[in-house]
Amino acid sequence: MSEDTPAPLLEGYRVLARKYRPIKLSQIIGQDFLVETLKRGIEGGRLGHAFILTGIRGTGKTTTARIIARALNCETGPTPEPCGTCSSCMAIAQDRSMDVIEIDAASRTSVDDIREIIEASRYKAVSSRYKIYIIDEVHMLSKSAFNALLKTLEEPPPHVKFIFATTEIHKVPATILSRCVRFDLKRIEAPTLVAYFKTLCEQEGVVCEEEALGLIAKAAEGSVRDGLSLLDQAMTYGTSQVTAAQVRQMLGLSDQGLLFTFFQALMEGETLLSLEKLRYFYQEGADPLRILEDLLDLTHWLQCLKMSPSLAQDITLTPEKRQKGAELAETLSIPSLTRVWQILLKGFEEVKRAPSPQKALEVIVIRLTHLTPLPSLHDLLNQGGDELPLKKKILSEVKAGTHPAFASFEDLVEWVSQQREGILHGNLVYDVHLVAFSPPTLALRLTQKAPKNLSQQLQDLLKETRGEVWTIAISEEIGHPTLYEKEQKAREEQRETILQDPLVKTVMEAFPGTTLVEIEDK
Ligand SMILES: [Zn+2]
Repeated sequence: MSEDTPAPLLEGYRVLARKYRPIKLSQIIGQDFLVETLKRGIEGGRLGHAFILTGIRGTGKTTTARIIARALNCETGPTPEPCGTCSSCMAIAQDRSMDVIEIDAASRTSVDDIREIIEASRYKAVSSRYKIYIIDEVHMLSKSAFNALLKTLEEPPPHVKFIFATTEIHKVPATILSRCVRFDLKRIEAPTLVAYFKTLCEQEGVVCEEEALGLIAKAAEGSVRDGLSLLDQAMTYGTSQVTAAQVRQMLGLSDQGLLFTFFQALMEGETLLSLEKLRYFYQEGADPLRILEDLLDLTHWLQCLKMSPSLAQDITLTPEKRQKGAELAETLSIPSLTRVWQILLKGFEEVKRAPSPQKALEVIVIRLTHLTPLPSLHDLLNQGGDELPLKKKILSEVKAGTHPAFASFEDLVEWVSQQREGILHGNLVYDVHLVAFSPPTLALRLTQKAPKNLSQQLQDLLKETRGEVWTIAISEEIGHPTLYEKEQKAREEQRETILQDPLVKTVMEAFPGTTLVEIEDK
């Protein structure tokens, strides 16, 4: 079977990953640094004898390993651009090269397996320049297998090359790592994948909407292999044309336009309309968790959009949808979006645990529609002049943040004095009896001398200056003595204490007629 023949599977079914598997370094996408380093290493003949390729699944580790093998063993090489036609290149392409040995460490983990390899590595390559061992999922090897391998890595025969691949580099012993040249394969960026898929579609003669390719690239999460298998599916699904609608249905994604109107209804507090839209999603076969994920994605995207339009680049959105998103973002504040995010995230766990995920989601929808839109502090402060009551209120609330709470009625009265409310302060000291103090509630009994609107005056002062709403009740209960009476009593007690002091007594006795006139606080 030649390289260009697709695998004979279902008729019309393309196995793109096999058909378009790169065979040269220049065909590897999204790994520019790796390609450049390998190219220079191969051209300069400065390639080590052991490599380790690491990265998430589907980023091209095995493909890269095979390309290195081809590059090293090509009869025209070593060259970064193996010819593809010499006997070595052909043998590798057809998986029949005697000198390129692929081992899956997941199934051959024992020390005996490795000993066998090491034993064989002592013999020269059969028909090529190097004997190349590609060990996939190398982290699966047993400890003793690693130890056996280490000895060979320390003194490798000159004709042997090792290429290791792993998804879990942290499980590979440091002693092995230190003897390998390490290459990290990155996740492939969505725009790179889209561009790649586009060229494949052209070669396949299939018309693909760019939005559809964007959706596939996003779902692939950086893996070419996953992306290609999704594209395969989409092509089977849509035969000669791949549309965004088909891909959405295939991936179980909600229609972005419907999602936007749903989100808008939620934010406008339209409970019934929101529930109606939710039912429509169900009818379309959407899964409750999927809907929540989509809403979370949208919330995150709107937040990015608010921070900076450049953060909100989303290849899966058409310009019209981006415009619509921008309008939606305009009406919402960052704090509101943060609250929506929190509710959705909490809801995600609830829906997962709920016996009926559908009902749980409906409850979350109701919760979201009852969120009162919260204008940002910044917006309020920038609404206009000082006379705006809202601004005044917010300012006093801001100020309130710096006020410690009153620990006692005395504290409160002291604060009134600091506000330069002399008359009110006097009334509070001389003319009221405290009945109960329990912020923000206060009960007082007024004497005859107290102004009738005292409680109103105090309430207004607390509200305007501290932004606090107090309830000040007038009571008939006797309550405590007035603050003035309390102070007088305290002074009396102090006087008595002083007069009892032995030293003072001696002075008074020595100077008959002496009286205690005033006590000065020290
Ligand atoms: Zn060749």
